[in-house]
Amino acid sequence: MKKALIFDIQHFSIHDGPGIRTLIFFKGCSLSCKWCANPEGISPLPDIKQTALRCIGCGACLKNCQTGAISVEEGRITIDRNRCIRCGTCARHCPAQALSVWGKYYSVEELVELAQRDMPFYEASGGGVTLGGGEPLLQNEQAVELLHRCKEAGLNTAIETAGNYPWEYLQRAAPYCDTIHFDMKGWRPEVCRAWLGRDNEQMKDNLRRLDGEISGWEKKPQLIVRIPLLPNENFTVEDFELLGDFLCTLQSLSKVEILPFHNLGQGKYEQLGRSYELKGRVNLKAEDAEPYLHVLQAKRLPVTISAM
Ligand code: SF4
Ligand code: SF4
Repeated sequence: MKKALIFDIQHFSIHDGPGIRTLIFFKGCSLSCKWCANPEGISPLPDIKQTALRCIGCGACLKNCQTGAISVEEGRITIDRNRCIRCGTCARHCPAQALSVWGKYYSVEELVELAQRDMPFYEASGGGVTLGGGEPLLQNEQAVELLHRCKEAGLNTAIETAGNYPWEYLQRAAPYCDTIHFDMKGWRPEVCRAWLGRDNEQMKDNLRRLDGEISGWEKKPQLIVRIPLLPNENFTVEDFELLGDFLCTLQSLSKVEILPFHNLGQGKYEQLGRSYELKGRVNLKAEDAEPYLHVLQAKRLPVTISAM
């Protein structure tokens, strides 16, 4: 089996599932949400991370780049991302860690072994392993095998997914999940195209099919729908009425979480040489989401606001 391309592994997380968790972030996503807090997870290839403040101006990257993608502009190292072939040579030669690589290949065995090191914390807290991204299920074979092996090792498992892929990808993963966090990122197709880069038909369809598939299972995963929210942008209150009606049709829904917008990923856009479209937006507070909360509460959905 091909190795999995992973851009981060975080230990001791208390979000993204029950207890203390190890988060494994898979690279590659089929969406491009404007608010994405992990833009380094979008490309399915390694990315060069540039932390300009660390640069000591030694020129080693410039000398060792075979494609001529690196130049000096106004005294600053600049990478032409269209010429860069993501080989990582510059990062290996940079003595100051001003350049590094987002994305490292791991075998499933290596990932299971890394996760098992945190076993005492899982046992004490009811925690386990969460696969996030990016979209973890796009590296489907590796993600499903990792979930399977974690279950065999007795680990609690969770995934974070947006459902924008063929149904079979989710169908294969679901039997090995204790918790499925499923994002609903917009309601109207034209708004989804503008904010996510895709309409949401496949995502809605996959959520509906997942609900139907697991509803008869004796031991089914917890299904948590998460809703990133920029009021009056990706959702209006009227959209929430329709979303709420849709969620009310699900038989296996455990919980709904509203996630008010935060701008924590902003610095990473600069490190990737990309612009951040939501620059200047402030983090929202829980009270900003209250009108939306009330819509779902009125429909008796089990909903909370998860503010940063
Ligand atoms: S990753 Fe390779 S091609 Fe890209 S800038 Fe660095 S050395 Fe050049
Ligand atoms: S190798 Fe690193 S420290 Fe040296 S010029 Fe390039 S980015 Fe700066």
